[in-house]
Amino acid sequence: MPKFSFEKIVNHTKVSGFVYPGSEIYGGLANSWDYGPLGVALKNNIKKAWWQKFVIENQNIVGLDSSIILNPKVWEASGHVATFNDPLIDCKYCHSRFRADKLVEGHDSSIRASAMSNQELEDYIAKNIVCPKCGHNQFTNIRQFQLMFKTSIGVVEDAKSQAYLRPETAQGIFINYKNVLRTSRKKIPFGIGQIGKAFRNEITPGNFIFRTREFEQMELEFFTKPGTDLEWYEYFKKYCMDFLLNLGMKQENLKFLEYEKEELAHYSKATCDILYAFPFSNGFEELWGIAHRSDYDLTKHQEYSGEKMEYLDVDTKEKYIPYVIEPSVGVDRLLLALICDAYDEETVNENDVRIVLHLHPFVAPFKAAILPLSKQQNDLANEIYAKLVKEFEIDFDNTGSIGKRYRRQDAIGTPYCITVDFDSETDKSVTIRNRDTMEQERVKIEDLSNYLKEKIKL
Ligand code: ATP
Repeated sequence: MPKFSFEKIVNHTKVSGFVYPGSEIYGGLANSWDYGPLGVALKNNIKKAWWQKFVIENQNIVGLDSSIILNPKVWEASGHVATFNDPLIDCKYCHSRFRADKLVEGHDSSIRASAMSNQELEDYIAKNIVCPKCGHNQFTNIRQFQLMFKTSIGVVEDAKSQAYLRPETAQGIFINYKNVLRTSRKKIPFGIGQIGKAFRNEITPGNFIFRTREFEQMELEFFTKPGTDLEWYEYFKKYCMDFLLNLGMKQENLKFLEYEKEELAHYSKATCDILYAFPFSNGFEELWGIAHRSDYDLTKHQEYSGEKMEYLDVDTKEKYIPYVIEPSVGVDRLLLALICDAYDEETVNENDVRIVLHLHPFVAPFKAAILPLSKQQNDLANEIYAKLVKEFEIDFDNTGSIGKRYRRQDAIGTPYCITVDFDSETDKSVTIRNRDTMEQERVKIEDLSNYLKEKIKL
């Protein structure tokens, strides 16, 4: 469990410029957030890391960027129009609104409410739960609440013009599966990865950027030959967990939750979540979903569009609709987990506590900060900055004592501080201070680029 309170961590991300409250000058918009200069840098680097490990480093995975607004038939075929809804329940007394399943899980985290019927949820709540807001035990019946945001296309608002903002990026991949097969000359097994915005009219958004109505997803749909699907499922479970550990996340804050048979979608052979010990929760919460989706989505699109979705194996002449493994993670949720995991307050000596973000250098907003010791070193420091900034994200800070400048960089996760001092002109070297160990070493200016390149590798 992370050592620090959620409030403390959230406050730090707000005051240091990672995240701002959305629409703040108009009094805000509940549960919407904007990413500030450090936040957008961190977010871009997280996406870069995912794209690198899931798309670029895999010969059999390619990328895609599909539209946010798709033909509404896509969402009929995928089942979202009929079933993408959450069980909503109201307190009759104070009119607060809750997700019934989350209310039950919040009361007893050992219960998997997703496997319960609405009747079972209602009965459980009536017997065991009082309204978290007002303490009364009088709830309405459960109603199903459609989570997709509706919009309309064109100048006339009627049933024909109705469309949706996508609630996941996955369906954009499924409807392009044939295009990708045709144009990329890939053979099964192969995958398509996509990063993009998704929208869900969540009943109970909250916990900062953990659950919002607008968020970003990084999704992979991996198409496999039936019979090999479970092996690939296991492969991607490990691949996703290794991705998080490689980013330096602490093993004890991560775990798998494998779904029980009765919790699985009817078409799925297996599904699990990677959970993270978010500090707002008593236990662990979902970070990354890894689902076996069988041939469900492609079969549905074949049925609704009339387009054949079969794959022809040219070697064996077999025809089949591939089984799909889908690892899907939210960028914002991963960013939150990374900050929670990296945040630390360290006692340096008796009256000196430093806030430090131990972020992996690859995702850190700045890879290094150039700190001229005094004004006399400004020119040389600027020269070094101008060179390095072509390759890396570099900060420049020449205000305040060197100690204060180190602390500022520690607090935003900059892994290396490069101090340009009185000797730098003559020995053509600088001092590099390591954020985590606080140790210093002397490095030749001409070696700086290679030094940083080596250190930030994923
Ligand atoms: P939940 O049960 O918590 O609503 P889910 O199981 O519906 O989530 P998925 O559809 O599997 O979530 O979405 C994949 C990933 O997208 C999640 O693991 C999470 O990281 C992210 N995600 C989903 N909904 C949100 C949201 N409202 N805000 C931020 N991230 C989200």
